[in-house]
Amino acid sequence: MPELPEVETVKETLKRYVLNQRIEKVIVRYPKMIENCDVVTFITQLSFQTILDVQRKGKFLIFICDRGYIISHLRMEGKYYYNSHTEDKHTHLIFVFHDHTTLAYHDVRKFGKFYYFDQTQKIEQLPPLNRLGKEPFELLDGSYLYQKIHLLKKPIKTLLLDQSILAGIGNIYADEICFASKISPFKSANQMTKKECNRMIEQAKKILTEAIQLGGSTVRSYQSEHGINGKFQTKLHVYGREGLPCDICQTNIIKTKLNQRGTHYCPHCQKGKKYVNRNNRSYR
Ligand SMILES: [Zn+2]
Repeated sequence: MPELPEVETVKETLKRYVLNQRIEKVIVRYPKMIENCDVVTFITQLSFQTILDVQRKGKFLIFICDRGYIISHLRMEGKYYYNSHTEDKHTHLIFVFHDHTTLAYHDVRKFGKFYYFDQTQKIEQLPPLNRLGKEPFELLDGSYLYQKIHLLKKPIKTLLLDQSILAGIGNIYADEICFASKISPFKSANQMTKKECNRMIEQAKKILTEAIQLGGSTVRSYQSEHGINGKFQTKLHVYGREGLPCDICQTNIIKTKLNQRGTHYCPHCQKGKKYVNRNNRSYR
């Protein structure tokens, strides 16, 4: 699933192609993707609007048009093709612009979502955006995180993935942020100190910034035939490195499950108090 840096990369790539494009026609092949209105409303409202900007909040893309907004979430496999796509069964939505170029949304898993809102409403006050917590970049230190989590008896990694607490972090970067902060992903949130929350936000910003910078090179080298999905190779220390030696201490990285999510950590660098859930099932 694309996380904040990948969606940022998609946003920057899209901006190169769709800014000031007037939508001539919208083709929707899979109406269930439209989350908050019927397909006829979506199509008629968007026709003849111009895309003025593309923004991002958490993992959501926001197309700012002259009279309304499109919100798009790529979920697992969603990607865009600008003017390069031969339509197939995974093409679910196509914007046709006045210059006859197209922006096609392709999604093998069909999990992606679209929303349309007119501009009488403030976008950040509407679902799904109003349910999002702050992004790490909006925070100076860990006090917001501490305030949100310090009463919760849940593993810290689970809360890092909760978009209503922090927006934009998914499974890969959650593991990486825990590792860089030297905090066990299983550590119960109510045992996190303010200092540890500071460290976590500092590392989150550092890791996401590095990934965005790396994604920037993807924007420059974007190849249209692969679709705009924001994927790029970033240097990972724990994610996907099960059984390989830790870059810091050489202990083998462990992979296990935490709330059904594959979780990677170094048992030496990330020591933490055991987390016990309600069923008394203990982790680590
Ligand atoms: Zn280690």
